[in-house]
Amino acid sequence: MREPRPGARRGPGCGFCDGCHTTLVGTHADVEIVRTDLLSIGVKETRDLVRRAQLSPAGGRWQVIVLEDADRLTEGAGNVLLKAVEEPAPRTVWLLCAPSLEDVLPTIRSRCRHLTLRTPAVEAVADVLVRRDGIEPEVAQAAARATQGHIDRARRLATDERARARRSVVLKLPLRVDDIGGCLKAAQELVDAAAEDAKQVAEEIDVKETEELKAALGAAQGGRMPRGTAGAMKELEERQKRRRTRTQRDSLDLALTDLTGFYRDVLALQLRSRSALANTDVRDSLERIARDTTPERTLRRIEAVLACRKALDRNVAPLLAVEAMTMALRG
Ligand SMILES: [Zn+2]
Repeated sequence: MREPRPGARRGPGCGFCDGCHTTLVGTHADVEIVRTDLLSIGVKETRDLVRRAQLSPAGGRWQVIVLEDADRLTEGAGNVLLKAVEEPAPRTVWLLCAPSLEDVLPTIRSRCRHLTLRTPAVEAVADVLVRRDGIEPEVAQAAARATQGHIDRARRLATDERARARRSVVLKLPLRVDDIGGCLKAAQELVDAAAEDAKQVAEEIDVKETEELKAALGAAQGGRMPRGTAGAMKELEERQKRRRTRTQRDSLDLALTDLTGFYRDVLALQLRSRSALANTDVRDSLERIARDTTPERTLRRIEAVLACRKALDRNVAPLLAVEAMTMALRG
């Protein structure tokens, strides 16, 4: 699926016909896009999905299910999906998306055809931001460069003041981890900021969601709930809790991605690589660290950031994982 491009070839995947248009805006009857805002996709959700996949297409010859976060399937959910992928309904196509092949459960990926997509170029991302989101060209260019091919993140950086503030704090961290006190403080701040993000998102969504469910379940004036609705309320609370954890994790992950980008730039300077820097806005810091340390040291620092991401993936307590990282980043 591509963005419509003026003068593009007409035909399947043209970007202009009714099929392309409804697919792109997400209203195509036979294209279902599944996203999750939770840490994992569980058995229950997957069963529902598999059941829907058994139905015949509404209009066309095929129906397509795009599972955007296939890397978030739990093992149980993977087993449910496995049967559907092994013996798919005759006119259903599953598209499972993940950051890399290794992120998908081995049982699933061994039964799929693999398609590797390229990371879009900085110019291409900036172009989408300008045309689709109406962002100023210079702002779009800077955001695309800073996020290295990630369209969603670039858009957030270009449009969300808070995202910009977060990033600038993260990029100051390499200069703050001189002594143990500085390391611990920086770690605490990083984790607090992620928790704050999660809280903010929760405040925006949870209250409304809870009110809506209450109304749907027939809450009386004054908020008293009818009998037998406690289970549904409890389920929503559980879901909101899981979402909060996921938001916090995502926010930390973003910070770590920025940090990796910073040290990658340092390495590029140290090796006099010709590749364009991602974080030109903090060029002074990049140059200072590049001058004061060695490429070997920079590589070890990048490894420390990656190790932290892995630890978080394994559900190590965030503060513990981030502290271990900042200590390893020390001068
Ligand atoms: Zn088309």
